[in-house]
Amino acid sequence: MNTFEQLYGRPAEGEWAAPGRVNLIGEHTDYNLGFVLPIALPQTVRAEAARREDGLLRIWSAQGREPVTLRVADLAPGSVPGWAGYPAGVVWALRDAGHEVGGADLRLDSDVPSGAGLSSSAALECVLAAAYNDLYGLGLPAAELAVLAQRAENAFVGVPCGIMDQMASMCCRPGAALFLDSRDLAMRQVPVDLAGAGLALLVLDTRVKHDLGDGAYAALRAGCERAAALLGLPALRSLQPSGLADALARLPSELVPLVRHVVTENARVEAAVALLDAGDLVALGPILTAGHASLRDDYRVSCPETDLAVETAVAAGAHGARMTGGGFGGSVIALVDQDAAERVAAEVTTAFRAAGYAEPRTLTAVPGEGARRLR
Ligand code: ADP
Ligand code: MG
Repeated sequence: MNTFEQLYGRPAEGEWAAPGRVNLIGEHTDYNLGFVLPIALPQTVRAEAARREDGLLRIWSAQGREPVTLRVADLAPGSVPGWAGYPAGVVWALRDAGHEVGGADLRLDSDVPSGAGLSSSAALECVLAAAYNDLYGLGLPAAELAVLAQRAENAFVGVPCGIMDQMASMCCRPGAALFLDSRDLAMRQVPVDLAGAGLALLVLDTRVKHDLGDGAYAALRAGCERAAALLGLPALRSLQPSGLADALARLPSELVPLVRHVVTENARVEAAVALLDAGDLVALGPILTAGHASLRDDYRVSCPETDLAVETAVAAGAHGARMTGGGFGGSVIALVDQDAAERVAAEVTTAFRAAGYAEPRTLTAVPGEGARRLR
């Protein structure tokens, strides 16, 4: 049907893939220049692409979106509404950074659920960045492409996200979590052998996305920046757990829970990495659940659906569970014994039905590979 050749009358020059992600722990820490620990999903956004000489950017998506034709020379923040802003924003970010890239024909396809907190937006940006890097012979390193992809989302689309999603999609490795320091983008691949430990990581997509999330994210980010300024710090990352009590005593009450979440969450990432290094994967469970409580009670980005998924999974025998992603809906991860995975998923589904919620969609996450060329 809609093959690249049928759409554009010529073959593609190549095909690239970039994955969605789940974050094991370290939520709302990236824009505070702290630590995160994501894994890439096997699910990817794929792009077949061929350069064009005439400066046009034509984008078609198999996910039923209206195709677009844009002129790369005219790309400017705010000029491309809707879904095409993500891919077009990457072309703009490359050009704005001085890379002389032109147009292309693009055919996109994806099995990353969209709007589920699994970062289909970053996967879409990163697949564009990887394709353009190769097609136009830019030779940019993966981390630099991730920063340009983030710039596309921040400045072109207008979403003030941190750097985690793009770094995860560009830099994750199979069988490992990416321990990333958002301050200087120092990273380490930390092996995560779930199957070897008899474990599985369930991803429960609650299928809800509360509109509240859009404005709330920016407000939370602004609150963190205000707290850091009041404390005389470049970012909340610089506040250590030992200094937390003193710092909280100096802050207005509305900023206290925000700061407490960020500082304790950074500590949870470091504790999780130590456990992974020691091969004690089961012990990650309580860290995940503690992270969820912090997101629910201090950062207040949970919602009834994610809370129900976490509570039900833990009651059904999960070692730990938490919402993953920005919040106000999206997905929950649950660390379970392999042979309990089906039962835990079934109990969450039953609980959702009883509460009158839509049935969650269930995936099993195996740490996958970052952005790559397929052919
Ligand atoms: P998330 O990143 O958690 O999936 P976002 O709201 O950040 O949620 O990004 C979802 C948006 O990304 C979609 O609304 C759409 O604009 C765009 N998008 C994601 N995947 C595709 C795709 N395959 N084709 C076209 N647009 C997509
Ligand atoms: Mg996103």
